Amino acid sequence: MGERADSAERTTVVAIDGPAASGKSTVSREVARALGWVYVDSGALYRGITWKALRAGVDVRDAGAVQKLLDRARWAFPVRDRTVVFTVDGEEPGDAIRGPAVRESVSDIAALPCVRAFVSARLREMRRYGPLVMEGRDIGTVVFPDADFKFYLDADPVERARRRARDLAAMEGAADLAQVRASLARRDTKDSTRRDAPLRVAADARIIDSTALTVDEVTARIVAAVRAGKGTA
Ligand code: C5P
Repeated sequence: MGERADSAERTTVVAIDGPAASGKSTVSREVARALGWVYVDSGALYRGITWKALRAGVDVRDAGAVQKLLDRARWAFPVRDRTVVFTVDGEEPGDAIRGPAVRESVSDIAALPCVRAFVSARLREMRRYGPLVMEGRDIGTVVFPDADFKFYLDADPVERARRRARDLAAMEGAADLAQVRASLARRDTKDSTRRDAPLRVAADARIIDSTALTVDEVTARIVAAVRAGKGTA
């Protein structure tokens, strides 16, 4: 057990942080695929907790009620196709976590210290799955401050809104660019001004501005840096 825990602590982690719609998900998935490592979308956990809370009629700002929900539900994190998925009470939320109700409440639930402690502990346990590519807001700063590789992906807000609007139009049929931009801005403000683990660039992260880069270009940069052993600034 001791030996396994030791080797899990030494497992390589590529942390990819950044604001909403910076391209983190697509890039992180591609980086994990190229390296053959396990991919973890930490935002999906915050979204999953939000989904469960909304379904249970729990106020997402009520820390006591949310804590009870965390304690009572059964959470599991199996790996499928080298991707960590999760189930709550045996159910997989699927695309429901990408819908408008979750989107507008997730930053409120993610600001609760009890939720952050719960998610961070689960994310740290995932080191037992082997080398990880994990995306989020606080992976390089709080969850794995000792990560070997840290990247901060950013892009111009207008470009981020354009990309997100394109994704939403594919998922929901239509998206108003101005509304998407306002929604991203609301989430960015909440995520970067909360007290506990705000979105911030880790001092040793490599910043990549993806405004004028394709997914393949960003992926190639990260993979090359990891292969060369140069993932922190
Ligand atoms: O990455 P994604 O947009 O799916 O994340 C949804 C929300 O989850 C973020 O807006 C943020 O409030 C929260 N989050 C977080 N810390 C992380 C990942 C996501 O607070 N590491």
